[in-house]
Amino acid sequence: MIKLNEYIGCIHGHSVYSDGSGTYPKIISAAIEAELDYLMMSDHMTLQGKDEGFGGWHQNLFLSIGYEINDPEDQHHYLAFGLNKTLPETYSHKEYLKAVKDKNALGIAAHPLEERDSKNSLPGFPPITWRSLDYPEIEVIEIWNMMSHWLESTTLKNRYWNVVHPRSFSTSPSKKIMQWWDKANIKRKVTGVGSVDVHAKKIKILGFFSKAIFDYKIMFKSIRTHLLIDKPILKSTPVSNTEQVIFNTIFQGKSFISNYRRGDARGFRFWAEIKDKEIQMGEIGFSRRAILRAIIPEISICKVIRNGKVFYLQETKELNLKVPEGLYRLEIERDERGWIYTNHIRIKEF
Ligand SMILES: [Zn+2]
Ligand SMILES: [Zn+2]
Repeated sequence: MIKLNEYIGCIHGHSVYSDGSGTYPKIISAAIEAELDYLMMSDHMTLQGKDEGFGGWHQNLFLSIGYEINDPEDQHHYLAFGLNKTLPETYSHKEYLKAVKDKNALGIAAHPLEERDSKNSLPGFPPITWRSLDYPEIEVIEIWNMMSHWLESTTLKNRYWNVVHPRSFSTSPSKKIMQWWDKANIKRKVTGVGSVDVHAKKIKILGFFSKAIFDYKIMFKSIRTHLLIDKPILKSTPVSNTEQVIFNTIFQGKSFISNYRRGDARGFRFWAEIKDKEIQMGEIGFSRRAILRAIIPEISICKVIRNGKVFYLQETKELNLKVPEGLYRLEIERDERGWIYTNHIRIKEF
């Protein structure tokens, strides 16, 4: 197995510069306490945190600051990282998709297919969604957004339980997103990330305040995106180069998503072997068959998904499976709850 460097972090956060409750120093110390290697913040429609110089290293935490774009109807939320200036607020989603791509920045479609249970959903939180994801510029999407999933799962009936146990509901990414994602990847590459979408707001609508719900540190211990990078990241490297390495790794899909609540997924690996060549997540291997391999930190249910369908299932700490060509990813479950979700590996005949 090729040695790769693993960097664990959280994507998508809001500070006081938009509708979050935390200042940058507070958020940074929460991320350090949660032992994140990197954090990607994204306030709505502003790069103020970046302009004020909060990006870069804080002890062992690397902070990158982008922003979350919305259209004039407050739909089609799109995270953009790597821009130095915000785009015009009048832009439609088609215009900002193109602008982010043209500027070589990283774009991530946020909470892409969010929906609500029409009878039981909480009042005052209409879904914010993408009416269609079929734009070639959409190359990275959030497959598991903690906050969006909480809103989707919280109803008038279970709201008290969900407020007191904010991470307990989130058992797996939504089926609708995973189906779209697999189907899209059969035609073209679309990478997935996990996100927290942390605001640390006090939820007044439920009639009482609970101090800890959705606090930054709690959220940083939920959905994480693990990046696998060939070369170690050095603090002596210029900040913009380090950002580029992180953005490229996300863009290429050399990553997997974990829910820390189900366990620490550090050390998990998934790759394919064709003769003595290793194919990593996000890559294509050219052959009629390959061996899929995985190392899982704890005994778990390992589901091999091929072309969008469960192909193989085993309770194990190690996967070693001969497979024909196809589009593969893994889902790892513990106690019937989702723990790890990988990006795809493609095995293709020439
Ligand atoms: Zn949003
Ligand atoms: Zn957001």
